[in-house]
Amino acid sequence: MGQDPFTALKRSSTVAAATPLPTTATRGRSAAAAAPRGRQIKKTFNNLKLTLLCGFITILVLRGTIGIGSLTGSSDGDLDAQKIAEETKRILDEIRSDDEPFDPNDPPGPEINPNVTYTLGPRIANWDLERKEWLSKNPEFPNHVNGKARVLLVTGSPPKPCDNPIGDHYLLKAIKNKIDYCRLHGIEIVYNLAHLDKELAGYWAKLPLIRRLMLSHPEVEWIWWMDSDALFTDMVFELPLKKYVNHNLVIHGYPDLLFDQKSWIALNTGSFLFRNCQWSLDLLDAWAPMGPKGAVRDEAGKILTANLKGRPAFEADDQSALIYLLISRKDEWMDKVFVENSYYLHGYWAGLVDRYEEMMEKYHPGLGDERWPFVTHFVGCKPCGSYGDYAVERCLSSMERAYNFADNQVLKLYGFRHRGLLSPKIKRIRNETTTPLEIVDQFDIRRSTNGHS
Ligand code: UDP
Ligand code: MN
Repeated sequence: MGQDPFTALKRSSTVAAATPLPTTATRGRSAAAAAPRGRQIKKTFNNLKLTLLCGFITILVLRGTIGIGSLTGSSDGDLDAQKIAEETKRILDEIRSDDEPFDPNDPPGPEINPNVTYTLGPRIANWDLERKEWLSKNPEFPNHVNGKARVLLVTGSPPKPCDNPIGDHYLLKAIKNKIDYCRLHGIEIVYNLAHLDKELAGYWAKLPLIRRLMLSHPEVEWIWWMDSDALFTDMVFELPLKKYVNHNLVIHGYPDLLFDQKSWIALNTGSFLFRNCQWSLDLLDAWAPMGPKGAVRDEAGKILTANLKGRPAFEADDQSALIYLLISRKDEWMDKVFVENSYYLHGYWAGLVDRYEEMMEKYHPGLGDERWPFVTHFVGCKPCGSYGDYAVERCLSSMERAYNFADNQVLKLYGFRHRGLLSPKIKRIRNETTTPLEIVDQFDIRRSTNGHS
């Protein structure tokens, strides 16, 4: 690490001050030539004492002002930076290594056998009854609170840092956006960074996660998966859960695209809800077999491309696999699937982000549809990875606009808004008041009638 000029300057003056001996001695020697020997020895001894004292004081002063590290050649700052760099490297190496540490005490995970259909775990056959009994024994964990079904929003991102720091910054903004929505609407939230099943890495990671959360939170009625690249853009709109009393899977899509066209974008798996019940566990089991990475996923991708309209050739993805399952086993499953398109449970970003100004002019939050989209999903943008379908700059500026459009709805309660949809900077929109309670109800977006801007 290079030394800054200021430290270097201080160090060279240190040497001069701490070692005055040569100068003093030269002067002393010339003066001493004419003096008697006894006096000369005493004088030399005194000079030596003075020199040692000066040196000692210099060291004390320098220790106090620039730190001991500077005297030994490296500053505290250099050492700290070096330690941080070493620790960062250690963590990144650990995250990036694919080795599974072997521990004989670990319980065995699911085995992958090409002759046996892959499952997410041992088959659970009686979940509805077991859950019902559990709920009746644990009244302190009810599945409905104040007449509303308990909802758990689940999202996550890969265990590794993004390829570019800006990707991590947008993951942070995306989770802050979800925390805001969930806080305002009494929804619990889980953020997952782990691959619970290493066979189902990537977009398939949501399947074992949803199953695990259903089993570990019997009190939760609905598990709501949302991709990391999907943002809430209507902070007022609430899911019309009562509409789904007879359904177990709610997903955005279009029935004609699904059954007439067999399109690979008929449904979107970036935002959907599963009821915590036996049916959902069974559907997850039926959905998972195309997921194991490698040969299984690659071969399954060929089947999906051959059967779904518009699908490019690539490995099996969770969305195509679900569409294929629902098309090919319609009678078995569709009865309990609600294909929603009356509001944007998922909204494709490209048609929405350029219209936010128009929406702000004409409409108000709480509508959830094309007038004020509930969710804006950045399908095909890969801000955290390297290869997206769209230019990175376009994705990033569009995500910034969506984030600020949503954040304005949150900031309004606190008397601020963004300077523009592309600006992280905010400005005040109300004067401070000594009677804050007079306006609190007016701006609280939890009171749906007051959300209008
Ligand atoms: N995801 C995850 N862990 C991973 C990879 C992906 O939890 O290792 C989640 C993440 O929330 C992401 C979603 O899966 O948004 C879907 O994956 P991806 O972004 O690759 O697909 P897209 O959203 O573009 O369809
Ligand atoms: Mn996505």
